Formats: sequence, structure tokens, C-alpha cells
Amino acid sequence: MSTKEWTPSSWREKPIAQDVIYEDKAHLEKVLTKLRRLPPLVSPVEIDRLRSQLADVAAGKAFLLQGGDCAELFDDCSSDPIEHKLSLILLMSLIILHGSRLPVVRIARIAGQYAKPRSKPTEMVDFEVADDSIPGQTKVEKREILSFRGDNVNGYDKSDRNPDPERLLGAYFHSTATLNYIRTLLLSGFADLHKPLDWSFSHVRSPEIHKAFSAVIESLQDSLDFMKVATGAVGGGERGGIETVDLFTSHEALLLEYEEALTRSDEGSTTRSFSPPSSKASTPAVSRSVSQVRVGSNSESAYPHSPVRPPKSPSLANSLANSFSDIRLESAKSQKKEKWYNTSAHFIWIGDRTRQLDGAHVEYFRGIANPIGIKTGPSMKPEEIVRILDIVNPDRIPGKVTLIGRYGAEKVDQFLPAHIDAVKATDHVVVWQCDAMHGNTKSSQTDPSLKTRHFVDVITEITKSMAIHREKGTILGGVHLELTGEVNEEGYSVTECIGGSMELQDKDLSFNYRTHCDPRLNFEQGLDVAFLLADHLRS
Ligand code: PEP
Ligand code: MN
Repeated sequence: MSTKEWTPSSWREKPIAQDVIYEDKAHLEKVLTKLRRLPPLVSPVEIDRLRSQLADVAAGKAFLLQGGDCAELFDDCSSDPIEHKLSLILLMSLIILHGSRLPVVRIARIAGQYAKPRSKPTEMVDFEVADDSIPGQTKVEKREILSFRGDNVNGYDKSDRNPDPERLLGAYFHSTATLNYIRTLLLSGFADLHKPLDWSFSHVRSPEIHKAFSAVIESLQDSLDFMKVATGAVGGGERGGIETVDLFTSHEALLLEYEEALTRSDEGSTTRSFSPPSSKASTPAVSRSVSQVRVGSNSESAYPHSPVRPPKSPSLANSLANSFSDIRLESAKSQKKEKWYNTSAHFIWIGDRTRQLDGAHVEYFRGIANPIGIKTGPSMKPEEIVRILDIVNPDRIPGKVTLIGRYGAEKVDQFLPAHIDAVKATDHVVVWQCDAMHGNTKSSQTDPSLKTRHFVDVITEITKSMAIHREKGTILGGVHLELTGEVNEEGYSVTECIGGSMELQDKDLSFNYRTHCDPRLNFEQGLDVAFLLADHLRS
């Protein structure tokens, strides 16, 4: 385990997986300098609130629903797609809440889920080129090009695959606009629990789903019990009025240059500003933010979760320490532990391909105060889970770590039990979440170039995980799904996954297959999962 001092840039000294190589380093540095100046997207207060809600999930007092696109595109930053995604997550959460009688913590893969890890850095594609032997004619040539790494790296278009640093700024501004619209919708009563049938539900054609959902809503609206759960305290925390709900943002923190630039210190906890990370990796973190201005006249911190900084007293000990910068660092640390927040999202996770114990991503994650996710799959050894938990959560903070299992319906029995046993043998308390998508990806039989997932595999992995946890005396705290409420111009849902109550067939996939990355559950399939989950959580 690394014992060296953590800084927002200490990951740069570690080997990095899935790296993006930029040709124009000066351009990259210019972009990062700009990003370091831009304001945070989310605040420590919100981040801490999510962490405390996740502590409730770990204790079995709430259920975690996390979902959204595999890869967001900059073009998704538009009112309709955002409203559709929000509606689906809100509707699903109501159905789950109704069945389980547990508050639902909602985290969307949204407002920053752009970067993608890839199994191969390049791919072979058909390119149309001029045919020199026949003037005016073209021919198709096979070419090896860089893989699409997400809209914040390069373009999906085959001729736009060189990584462009400017896209990092694009990611920031599209995330900001998306988040701004989500906040606007929620503050304007979009999530008003009195009118959930307005949430873009009208395009759902299945009368059975309409009936089932109407029944849920009627029962919910009649239920005083529900009001208490939806609005009241879990572990003493406030959840806002019934007009609105909490919704948190998340993404895979893959591009560490970007994440570093949005990592901000809470040193200025008595002010409204954050300290951006220094561009120099070697600068001691604690020497920053000395001249921040206090907002307000009383001595209360503007951030209720952060203690007011102690005054700098000119004691003898301090004067001596001032002559040695390292000692000064230690002395300041003992007064107050500085916290660093990733302010690009409330929750970020480490992917299955970047969780090497001595790698750059784990190094970055070990220093931030956000709640984090770690993908765990068949390639994760049980002892590795324990070591990674020791590294990223040395203080055993409840709600800090969510283990996002993605084993596949066929392998979950084989691997999850040993992972549970390994964690149970420690004093770590985690949120156990089931990502029922990434171990269940298959090729379409009618068109092998299309990736798909079978609804039955998704449900099987979730129900098997629940049963395994029950047997082990632990709790499946939540699910992690790739889904979208997106519809085409005629109002039809996407056709990327097979099965569900609409009985989508393999041959139907090409009808409205829209994803540029992994296949997502569509609106109806998302509701189907929620109804099944509600049933299981009730029993
Ligand atoms: C993802 O969540 O889109 C992803 C790439 O997952 P994993 O790291 O589990 O493969
Ligand atoms: Mn994916």
C-alpha cells in the first residue's frame, strides 16, 4: 500500500491503464488550466449528504437505484432526452419504494458519463476511398483506426478519432448544462409526487404497465406511510419536501487529468470558494488557500459538515515549524484534516479495467472524500477486494464504498459468495450493488455486429445476488443498470435489449438501436425491472 502523501496529482507517478495519449501537450495544459479555474459542478454538502444516505443503504435502511447510459453523448444534452432519463429513474424509484417501503437513493449515470474504457485501443473499419483505377469511383478499404473513447476524448465519426483536449472543456460545459436542467426541472416541481403519471408516461403503449403503475400510484398517494418514507428522515437526515426528490450524479472517473482539475479542497470551508488543485504536483496541499474571505458575519461555517478552521496563532512551536516546510505540513495536518472533493459529480466509480492496486486510478480515488464505487467481477480475487478497501477507505467511513458486482447471470454463484466472505472477515461495511448489465453482454444472432443483453439474464443476476446475500446474512443494497427513456420521433422506445414484458425479439433489435456503446434497457424494460424488484423486496 502506498504510504506517500496523497495530492490530487499523485496519481501521475503511478502506471495508468486505459490512458489517452494527446499529441498536443501544450493544448492539453491550456485546457486543464482553464478547467482548474472553472467552478465546481456539485458541492461538498451534497456529496456528504449522498455519503450519509449510502450509509443507510449499507445498513439496509434504504435502497440504491443507479442507472443511465453506458456512454452519454454531447448531443444527449437536450431537454427531451434529459427529461426522459429523469422520468424513468423517478418512476422506477417510486415503484421500488412502493414495494420495499424503503426510501430509494437515486444516482443517475448522467452529467459527465462520457469517457469509455475499451477492450482494444484500435478497431478495423470500412473506409470509402477514391478508386484510382476508375476515375470518379470509390472503393471500400479496411483501415485500423483508434477506438471511440467517448465524446470527451474523440468523435464517434470514423474520421474524428484523434483525441482532442478541447473535448474536455466540452465535457465540462455539457455536464454543466445537463445538471443545470436537472436542477431546474426538480426545483420546478417535475418530480412532484402528486403527478407522476405526467412523467413522460403517455408513450408507453402496454395497457398492463399502465394499469400496474396506476395501481402503484393510487396506493402511494393514499398512503401516509409512503409520505413519511418519501419525505422524512432516514437516520435523522432531511430529504426535502414531497414536491421534489434528491437525485445525484455519477460517472466512471476514467480521465484523471479532468478529474484532478475538478478536485477541490474544503480548506476554505468558511468561504464560498474552493481551492483548485495546483498545477505543480509537488506543491504541499496545505499551503494553499491562505487568503480566503469569510462570507457572512457570524462564525458559523457556510458548510455545516466542515469545521471552522482554527485561528493561526503565532505560538513558539508554530514559529519554529514555519522554518521547515515539511514540519509545517505535519503541524497543520494535525489541526485539521484537509478534505478533497471531486466536484465533477457526487459519486464516481473505478471501472473493472482500471482497478489495479498499484495503479493511477486507485491512487487518485484513495484521496477524495466522495462516496465511490468499485466494479468487481470474476477477475477480482477476494483478497484483492480487501486490499483495495483498506487503501480507499482506511478510516472505515460508512457509505464510502459501493462494491458494484458485475459477474453475469452464469457466474454470480461462482464468484460473489467468496467476495462476500472476504469482506465479512474484515471490519469494512460496504454497499453491495448488482450491476446486472456488464457480465451479460452478448452478440445479436441476427446481426452479430450489434451487442445486446437478455432481460432474463439481467433479472436472473439480480435475484441470484439477492438470494446469495440472504444466505450469507448480508444485504443486496441496490442495482446498477444501463437504461434510457429515449424514444425515436414516432415515440418508440429504443430496441437494444431482448425480452421484457414487450417481448422484444432478436430480430427487432435493428428497429430502433441507438446506443454508441453498450445496449440499454428501454423505458418499458426499466419499469419491468422495477416491478420485479419491488416484488422481491416486498417478500
Ligand atoms: C460501464 O459501467 O459502462 C463499464 C464499462 O463497466 P465495467 O467497468 O464494469 O466493464
Ligand atoms: Mn457500459
